Amino acid sequence: MAARQRRHTIALFGGTFDPVHFGHLRMALELKEALAIDEMRLVPSHRPAHRETPGVSAEHRCQMLEIALRGCPELQLDKRELRRGGATYTVDTLEELRAELGTEVSLSFCMGLDSLLTLPSWHRWERLLELAHLVVVARPGWQLPQGGRGADQGELAQLLGDHAGTPEDLRREAGGRLLVREQTLLPISATHIRQLVAGGRSPRFLLPAAVLEYIEDHQLYREAGTGSGQ
Ligand code: ATP
Repeated sequence: MAARQRRHTIALFGGTFDPVHFGHLRMALELKEALAIDEMRLVPSHRPAHRETPGVSAEHRCQMLEIALRGCPELQLDKRELRRGGATYTVDTLEELRAELGTEVSLSFCMGLDSLLTLPSWHRWERLLELAHLVVVARPGWQLPQGGRGADQGELAQLLGDHAGTPEDLRREAGGRLLVREQTLLPISATHIRQLVAGGRSPRFLLPAAVLEYIEDHQLYREAGTGSGQ
């Protein structure tokens, strides 16, 4: 019964990808496989609303993603937020995709637990679960929000309770579920990579070799302000 009701599933993995690294790529691939997602799309943000402006231009970040995804048919690049420009709001991206895909396709937005904790401050955040599922990736041992710990935490605990879903729900329903996945993250961050490059040290083996070559060819992340790394 459930198998016959299976919907086409699309998941978005958003980020600044400044630069893309193996932590992002492994996470996207593991989520795709674990949740049997049909299309896993990496969505670079133009100017994220919740963090500082990326170190290098959207064009460079997008080029590095294109290079990283060469020969990787499992992951796709979705440039819609770059085309739209301005500050990036997830709700606009999901509205746009819903209008494009219709109401039948299952749409998921993946985020880290750190992002979930800031959710109540996102632009029109209540609308997100009307448009898509939210897949939250938690590191083993991390604490989910619990009631009675401040307004935001209480709101989130309620949301987790009301919308809790399973991987099967993601394939049966178009949106509206909040799924928490425990997944071990590779200890790699873009911040560390930027600091290494700015400090004259090598980030080799933390990101695809072809992406490192691009960084070197274009002399990215060398200036002070992208991190001294010492
Ligand atoms: P920065 O160090 O600049 O904050 P970042 O490496 O955390 O960057 P982002 O572009 O901010 O990368 O993150 C995009 C998405 O990838 C987010 O959902 C984030 O939680 C996730 N992510 C970042 N690093 C890892 C990692 N090592 N393993 C799995 N997921 C990661």
